[in-house]
Amino acid sequence: MLKNDQLDQWDRENFFHPSTHLAQHARGESPNRIVTGGKGVYIEDRDGTRLLDGFAGLYCVNVGYGRQEIAEAIANQAKELAYYHAYVGHGTEASITLAKMVVERAPANMSKVYFGLGGSDANETNVKLVWYYNNVLGRPEKKKIISRWRGYHGSGLMTGSLTGLELFHKKFDLPFSTVLHTVAPHYLHRPDLSMSEADFVAYCVSELEALIEREGADTIAAFIGEPVLGTGGIVPPPAGYWEAIQKVLKKHDILLIADEVVTGFGRLGSMFGSAHYGIEADFITIAKGLTSAYAPLSGSIVSDRVWKVLEQGTDEFGAIGHGWTYSAHPIGAAAGVANLKLIDELGLVKNAGETGAYFSGKLRDALSAHKNVAEVRGEGMLAAVEFVEDKPSRTFFDPSKKVGPAVAGALLKEGVIGRAMPQGDILGFAPPLTLSKAEADEIVAKTVKAVASVLG
Ligand code: PLP
Repeated sequence: MLKNDQLDQWDRENFFHPSTHLAQHARGESPNRIVTGGKGVYIEDRDGTRLLDGFAGLYCVNVGYGRQEIAEAIANQAKELAYYHAYVGHGTEASITLAKMVVERAPANMSKVYFGLGGSDANETNVKLVWYYNNVLGRPEKKKIISRWRGYHGSGLMTGSLTGLELFHKKFDLPFSTVLHTVAPHYLHRPDLSMSEADFVAYCVSELEALIEREGADTIAAFIGEPVLGTGGIVPPPAGYWEAIQKVLKKHDILLIADEVVTGFGRLGSMFGSAHYGIEADFITIAKGLTSAYAPLSGSIVSDRVWKVLEQGTDEFGAIGHGWTYSAHPIGAAAGVANLKLIDELGLVKNAGETGAYFSGKLRDALSAHKNVAEVRGEGMLAAVEFVEDKPSRTFFDPSKKVGPAVAGALLKEGVIGRAMPQGDILGFAPPLTLSKAEADEIVAKTVKAVASVLG
């Protein structure tokens, strides 16, 4: 293990970290952590601290840390052929095999997969393809994209615009005017406490209808959404939400992009969130779980209906002007093939459903009655606890009190990583899909202690 006393100093002097308070980090006012290893659901830092990673990195290390099968596949690919591009019909055994494996696992209406590097660039690809699609069809005005407040779709220019979290817009001149945001399907935050879940779904639908009416359906190209809101708070949709939303989209000929960067490849206990909720998408975004983050790789899966128009476009206008140097990178593809095999062999989709339900059930039993816990929610291997100052009146804490970060900090002291979600006092969990019941029990017991230490 590298024991370099200067690492901390080099880090503060040279490293521009993402999603970090830059000034505090550079001044040495906020803690850093130098991670050196991982095995199963645990990571270890160079000071010898061992932590149960209840967030699987950034909900991505789905098969857990230290998988030699994937490391070997990467090493073998690097030795045989570290790189060749995928332009003008080039491929490798790994990229072609992975494309087949992805399309086989995707919903039946899906046709082809374009490979990128991360979730943000995959959504960027999706938006470009949506625009291309409508241009080929001779509808150049149909271009706007509807996203939801609390949605997370990346932090590029377009994808940062799609993201419905203020932090990702502030001072960046975002969102772009081609992006429109509609209501987040977060029942706990319904505008009127007397609304039933069905009333709230009807409200989400009427808000969407009103937005489409205001803008004109002939200007709106697509709607993007995560099957379960992720970074916006880990919020499963209210019952009937996706069915009702899809009816509106169909009526107005608006394409649907299912952003499955978090939910793809098993996290909800189904191979895809689309299948889980009966979503029939035109595009599915994949990343994280595709390689369990052993190497960067993402994908845009396109449906038969979209593919036909893309083919028509290239027949009319020539080769598609879209591609990255690293599209379908062989090392990422080799990691993906090994990862998807491992998910099957270990039965991780089933475990995500079963142990995930056990985990969120135990979390609910342990915390629902707490005076400051508004809700414990979960779906598959995703769970969240949302805090309130006063439960009967649903009065949320003043954000400046930073209750969510305080609970996550107390939990870290207990040796468990949970994530303080960026909008609201929400403690989120997305453990590796390998989580055992004993490990789930450890997270729950330590979360109870952490909550008690902050909120009594
Ligand atoms: N889409 C969703 C649903 C995500 O959760 C994320 C990242 O967390 C992204 C897109 C962006 O992916 P990346 O960070 O790989 O660019």
